[in-house]
Amino acid sequence: MDGALNIDQSCDGLTGEPQHIVSVSGGKDSASCYLLAIMRGRPFRAVTADTGHENEITYEWISKLSARTGGPEVEIVKADFTARIAHKRQLVQTKWVSDGMPDEIIQAALDILHPTGIPFLDLCIWKGRFPSIKGQFCTEHLKAEPIFEQVFVPAMASQGNVISWQGERRQGERRGESQNRSQLPRHQRVRYADIGSLHIWRPILHWSAENTFALHDHFGLEPNPLYRMGMGRVGCFPCINARKGELSAIFARFPEVLEKIRHFELLVSKASKRGQATFFAASTTPQGKRLAEDHKRGLRLDEALPGIDDIEAWSRTTRGGRQFDGFKLMDGNQLCSSQYGLCE
Ligand code: SF4
Repeated sequence: MDGALNIDQSCDGLTGEPQHIVSVSGGKDSASCYLLAIMRGRPFRAVTADTGHENEITYEWISKLSARTGGPEVEIVKADFTARIAHKRQLVQTKWVSDGMPDEIIQAALDILHPTGIPFLDLCIWKGRFPSIKGQFCTEHLKAEPIFEQVFVPAMASQGNVISWQGERRQGERRGESQNRSQLPRHQRVRYADIGSLHIWRPILHWSAENTFALHDHFGLEPNPLYRMGMGRVGCFPCINARKGELSAIFARFPEVLEKIRHFELLVSKASKRGQATFFAASTTPQGKRLAEDHKRGLRLDEALPGIDDIEAWSRTTRGGRQFDGFKLMDGNQLCSSQYGLCE
């Protein structure tokens, strides 16, 4: 998103007919923006960024949104990491070698450094690690970048002004936020040199979750069924920010997710200089946090940080992580976000 010259907080100065584009995630907040755009009665576009790591229920729900509401079809964009993975291969063949990395680590990385076509996995293979709460590079690379490059830039080039509808809400605490949401304006303009202006419009900033469900009711639109299955949010499945209760619900209802993440961990570990990559940060579990601290001090280096099977076992424990408690209800909170409201 280089080229931003100026940010202000008004939609003044629009010339010509701007293009309205709603970002859809499959969740209730972005769906509310989509429904409000329908109520406005003027043409608009809708777009979603496919991370390749969503639940099938979400894909299906998005694909039927247009038919169920009379709004536009949701356009799908995907991030492509082909060039960046190729560049990393070169780095492995040069810098990793000159750094004296062991042959088996180098060979494992070269074996795995090929695009899979699954954006989330390719991002992690390129980075050699999974995103985390402290390093949440996923939203930027998987959602903001492809939508900006593939949709907003061409739209600005043809229309001059783009109004990007974002489903950000101030109500409800979210963990792992990179920005104080209380500071977010309803309108925000970002000017791009020689292209045009991107006007960020947050129409539901002051809404409650109940307001969003009420709007669904008004349209007779069933919200994404994942909410009824105990998910507090929808998006990547699971999101790296998922809380304990949500994880226990996911693993109990969708055991295939465990297998998928196991596979991801295996592949991403091969692209890692350390030869290990875990989907969730070590600090997710109390035992993992202690082990990570010991690793920093050069202790217990032969013990692996908690992988997804450890996380799954921990997700079924009571507070403190010792005693198994079976299936528990989830926390019910929204879990992750971005300035652009691309992750619910
Ligand atoms: S839903 Fe979660 S894992 Fe997916 S891009 Fe957003 S923050 Fe990252």
